[in-house]
Amino acid sequence: MPPKIAEVDVNDAQRALKEALRNPIQMPAPAGNQVVAWVVSVFYLLISLMEGLVREISARITDLENDIKSRETASVAAPTPASTTAPRDRKTRCTKCHASNHIAEYCRTTNPAAMRKRIATNQKKKKSARATATTAIPTFPPMLPL
Ligand SMILES: [Zn+2]
Repeated sequence: MPPKIAEVDVNDAQRALKEALRNPIQMPAPAGNQVVAWVVSVFYLLISLMEGLVREISARITDLENDIKSRETASVAAPTPASTTAPRDRKTRCTKCHASNHIAEYCRTTNPAAMRKRIATNQKKKKSARATATTAIPTFPPMLPL
């Protein structure tokens, strides 16, 4: 929850100020009344300006809050792009000979069993090569005698 603008405090302050201005000090001299009236009108104008500013600022803050909320929900709802990329082994393979460059419909392999065996041994070779590559990486230098 973001900290709310101190709207109540501002309104209270404005109300208090207005209250004070509605009951101005009664000047004993009648000539001062017009001056007081002018000062009061100027204060009222200032207060209305302040009210307008406060309203505008709070509206902007509400807009920003809504914007942030909508962005947060949008980012949460965004799909993960990693799931769209299929792994290499998942691509279409021929169901007869297991070769990956064609489908069974277009299979022209004369000996599918031999082809399957060949592909299987190739995959095993690749796998073991990958395994040795990953296990060969953490090689430590021989311990030096102190
Ligand atoms: Zn095939």
